[in-house]
Amino acid sequence: MTTVFIISAPSGSGKSTLVNRLMTEVEGLTFSVSCTTRAPRGSEVSGQDYDFIDRSEFEGRILAGEFLEHADVFGNYYGTHTSELDKARAAGKDLVLDIDVQGAAQLKKRIPDAVTIFVLAPSREILEKRLRARSQDSDEVILRRLANAAREIRNYSLYDYVLVNEDLNLAAESLKGIVRAERVRRVRVEEKIRPILATFGAPPAGACDAER
Ligand code: ADP
Ligand code: 5GP
Repeated sequence: MTTVFIISAPSGSGKSTLVNRLMTEVEGLTFSVSCTTRAPRGSEVSGQDYDFIDRSEFEGRILAGEFLEHADVFGNYYGTHTSELDKARAAGKDLVLDIDVQGAAQLKKRIPDAVTIFVLAPSREILEKRLRARSQDSDEVILRRLANAAREIRNYSLYDYVLVNEDLNLAAESLKGIVRAERVRRVRVEEKIRPILATFGAPPAGACDAER
């Protein structure tokens, strides 16, 4: 059984850092590589960070129903191809998605058991410091990201878990803890339990329903 973990956050909150920690420190996870129409940045590799495709190809895939979810984020299309989930299921792995709030809402409707996690910086001031320390964006882009963050954080209540990323190690441990706890939900371990129960034989006569 594959559990789908959806992680969203305003830019600069530390989502990529946390997801990288999660992927390297917890076994049995596969990262969903999204399709996007935005241009590759820095050292990004097609097929690894994203599948970089053009708008007409993306629109063709929308029409063909190839996306589990898709959204327009800052003027570019982003979407999760259905094959990402198929591949994770075939490999018996859990799937981790780094997608925006619109995509998370669409996917939660389609896969109600998906686990949603929102990452939040401790304050606007700290978010701004992190965006500046990352030295990736111009002043204009940083201000736009901060304005977007003010909107995006209002959606935290749509998520199952909210991680305040203050101390990185603590936040990373919490994220790993969420994944590990979700993996021992009864529905996830039902198949493992039955053979264990079988080793104990039939329930004793007179056992009440809760014991059966
Ligand atoms: P996002 O993927 O959400 O845009 P990043 O993972 O790129 O954010 O993090 C933004 C910047 O903040 C990076 O320079 C990263 O090293 C730093 N950072 C992330 N988490 C913390 C933290 N808990 N404390 C201090 N700096 C952090
Ligand atoms: P970036 O361009 O900085 O990599 O990502 C911009 C935003 O798009 C981030 O909030 C990221 O989570 C989101 N995103 C990335 N892939 C997908 C996707 O497949 N679907 C949706 N809905 N959002 C995505």
